[in-house]
Amino acid sequence: MVRVSARSASPFAICPLCSQRSLRVHSRYDRRLADLPAHGRRVEIMAKARGFRCANDLCRRRIFAERLDPAVADAHERRIGRLAGLVHHLGMALGGRPAQAMARRLLLPVSMDTLLRTVRRRAQAPSAPPRVIGVDEWAWRKGHRYGTLICDLERRAVLDLLPNREPETVAAWLAAHPSVEIITRDRGGGYGAAAAQGRPDAVQAAKPSRIGRSAADQAKQGRRPPPTAGISWRTRAPPS
Ligand SMILES: [Zn+2]
Repeated sequence: MVRVSARSASPFAICPLCSQRSLRVHSRYDRRLADLPAHGRRVEIMAKARGFRCANDLCRRRIFAERLDPAVADAHERRIGRLAGLVHHLGMALGGRPAQAMARRLLLPVSMDTLLRTVRRRAQAPSAPPRVIGVDEWAWRKGHRYGTLICDLERRAVLDLLPNREPETVAAWLAAHPSVEIITRDRGGGYGAAAAQGRPDAVQAAKPSRIGRSAADQAKQGRRPPPTAGISWRTRAPPS
């Protein structure tokens, strides 16, 4: 394990409520942040974080914690942004359990729960309602449980991660999203029926079975996904 000590070079912090600068340090505490491995060892950043008193007497926020640059780490994140991004990409490309195994080999400190949380948290709805979507299986756990991944194919973003692949669940999601006009899905499975039930007016497009086979399908059959599985997955459901 490599430990890196770090602290902010800025003498002030900005109140998140009133945006006023404050130089009044109230407290200091340690914040641990996992980073990408280096030289075959895990890396942990020991950041000296500070709490500040708001300098604005009219502000309701008396004390606030200084924030790191969002590009470095979000407020309550325990991972540096570039590590969180990599974990998200692994989860998207391989599914739950295989992604966790790969993360372990890469020395990335990530639990199964974290992996799922990262993928779900980043599955944020875009500002405009989705029009063209892709519906696909996603393995929560290799050979055990499958969810359904719904992507906005125009904005190249994940929209949602449904807890199962039941046609009723998918149909309910579609019924709640009347803006959807085109649904791209796998040839087999119940997604066709779900699409017809949830959005009977939408156009359905079945993916070519060979190219469209996802890493989750490969995992289900007990085989390792071929290199093309990851590529075809990315062209359909690119992580942000
Ligand atoms: Zn304030």
